[in-house]
Amino acid sequence: MISFVGAGPGDVDLITVRGRRLLEKADVVIYAGSLVSRDHLTFCKEGCKFYDSASMTLEEVIEVMEREYRQGKRVVRLHTGDPSIYGAIKEQMDLLEEKGIEFEVVPGVSSFTASCAAIKGEFTLPGISQTVIITRLEGRTPVPSSESLELLAFHKASMAIFLSVGSIERAVEKLKQGYGRSDVPVAVVYKATWEDEKVIIGTLDDIAQKVRDQGIENFAMILVGDFINGKYERSRLYDPSFAHGFRRAVK
Ligand code: SAH
Repeated sequence: MISFVGAGPGDVDLITVRGRRLLEKADVVIYAGSLVSRDHLTFCKEGCKFYDSASMTLEEVIEVMEREYRQGKRVVRLHTGDPSIYGAIKEQMDLLEEKGIEFEVVPGVSSFTASCAAIKGEFTLPGISQTVIITRLEGRTPVPSSESLELLAFHKASMAIFLSVGSIERAVEKLKQGYGRSDVPVAVVYKATWEDEKVIIGTLDDIAQKVRDQGIENFAMILVGDFINGKYERSRLYDPSFAHGFRRAVK
């Protein structure tokens, strides 16, 4: 069996119980060495083989998976955060399917929720936004033009921008155009849940400079929106006068 496992954002305690159990039983682990903490590998049994996918091609990864699978080995493909977000797992799964190789996917804590936890925030505040946009700036990998940052920012939803801190100036310009103002709160979270985590809070006006001052070039999440410190309405879910399926209204 091949198991795609979300390792979580960094701290080894933030993998799921299921993910940890699979690691403990694995014969082979292929991990994304650029972002997954090596400490996860200390939970593997003796003799477990490790491959760092950072230096491998898709074909090489599949070759290892196929060879080990045909020998009846348990293979864990360890992805950072949750594998469904910028994980490039679909192309692996499609090749495995073509070869008739069985696999499963175990989700993980994505870095966008870990980053929101780092600022003790809530993306979906009543009266502010009920939508979270997960996106990235185009870099060497293009983004469809209908999803440009200006257009997305126009919705004024809460935003989690991956893979873009290296171009924060460009991101900020587009966000200002979309939001139509420059005092929108921004939090940049570098290496959420790692020992060297850093949180930088600012607005579209000053965040780029603050990020540059800290020398942050990559491995960071950009969170944008009034959810970071705007005025919100109280939630109806816990409002005494609001009844729902699990609670009667207080008269
Ligand atoms: N599948 C991953 C994302 C992989 S793309 C997930 O769900 O989190 C890699 C990008 O994710 C990085 O460039 C950065 O923007 C973000 N990222 C990953 N781990 C992070 C962390 N611990 N803190 C902040 N951002 C992180």
